Amino acid sequence: MFCYHCMRKINEGSTYCPHCGRQSFPDRDPHYLAAGSTLNDRYLIGNPMGEDGFSISYIARDLNIDERVAVKEFYPMGLVTRDSAISGRVSLKSEQEDFRSSFERGKDKFLQEARLSRQNGTADVRDIFSVNGTVYVVTSLTKDMMTGATAPDGAPLPYEDGFEGGQQNPNDMTDIGKKAPQKKKVSGGMIALIVIASLVVVGLIITMIVLFAGKGKGKTDQTATTVPTTVAATTVKEKEKETQAEDKSVTMIDVKGKKLSDAQSQLQALGLKVETSREQNADVAKDYIIRQSVEAGQKLQKGDTVMLYVSDGYEEVVTTQETHADPVFNSAQGSSVLSGYEAENVLNNDAKCWATEKDGKDAFITLRANGDQWVKGVYFGNGNIGDFQNWGRVTNVRFEFSDGTSVEKSISDISDLQTIDFGREVKTNSMKITILDSKAGAEHESTCITYIKAY
Ligand SMILES: [Zn+2]
Repeated sequence: MFCYHCMRKINEGSTYCPHCGRQSFPDRDPHYLAAGSTLNDRYLIGNPMGEDGFSISYIARDLNIDERVAVKEFYPMGLVTRDSAISGRVSLKSEQEDFRSSFERGKDKFLQEARLSRQNGTADVRDIFSVNGTVYVVTSLTKDMMTGATAPDGAPLPYEDGFEGGQQNPNDMTDIGKKAPQKKKVSGGMIALIVIASLVVVGLIITMIVLFAGKGKGKTDQTATTVPTTVAATTVKEKEKETQAEDKSVTMIDVKGKKLSDAQSQLQALGLKVETSREQNADVAKDYIIRQSVEAGQKLQKGDTVMLYVSDGYEEVVTTQETHADPVFNSAQGSSVLSGYEAENVLNNDAKCWATEKDGKDAFITLRANGDQWVKGVYFGNGNIGDFQNWGRVTNVRFEFSDGTSVEKSISDISDLQTIDFGREVKTNSMKITILDSKAGAEHESTCITYIKAY
């Protein structure tokens, strides 16, 4: 498994790339080749590194040599179109003859210049082939081809090479490529400026922390003294350039808890692409963001893709739980029964109750079902509702289930039906309810329960 941004190996199932420090998500813009697809069974295509009006450059992996390469595709924007969700093939926007001939002429020129640049050594052309209705040129990957693909700490930054901009960029190997501005291309010099800019920003932040912290400790002071040196090293002119270079970097914002449509428009306004993944969630309302693939405050490049996990609500989950039929317990047995106050009385919500012989402490009643039932709790009618104050009532009971689990619940001293929720769903074919504590009635020692109905 490879990172779509830098095409280095990453852990299976992980989206975080330790090499470039970014979340590996495919760029799903339909006019790009689908990231993750292969060309000629050999080149595994990653995300685009840049495009002009006539070609698209992708980072890729040569699976035969097991090395990263650049694959440049002839893609004249005005003439062709593609929906990579359907096919990698490019199709002409019009079947008119002048469209076709322009395309063919451009293709020939693209190939000619690629061959020429190989001959005169301006580009390390490794392969040329025709597929998808267009042509491709494979070159070695150079650091200055990569913008978003360049690691902040992974790949060495090109202080030595390309800083003066004198090196020929294989991205520019055709005249076609030079005509239109490279959308995503950043020269080595620019990258160096970004590094200086980053240092300045870090320096300023540290300076501010020191200034506002007041009483700084030794370590902080030490840092502070080194900072102005870095700042001073940067000229005003350089700073202007830095501002331009910085324009491509974007700081991720926190969209958790926001509505999807709002989050989308905010991120798109920052120049980021948004992909969504929906999942059920009981705590976040439907169509609101549960979490984001990139944490707020992280640096991204314009054009990067951010994955938003969107809540689908909870209803369907509830539905699956409700496919369990209402639990039915159809027999009851008491460990202690006052004559005329049978245990079965708890199965019906009427004036008749189960009563224990004495105060009922440690007495129990067992309800049984035909097979397993899914139980979430019970409706409980405490005492003798026909003569509540004069008979004993339960105050604490223990429910034991056939799966071996149990739960203790306190029962309110009221004659109204009360709901006793177990806080989970239990699969059981019996409920043994033991009286742990009871409250004596004004006239009778016996403790009563009128009704127990599982739900
Ligand atoms: Zn990576």
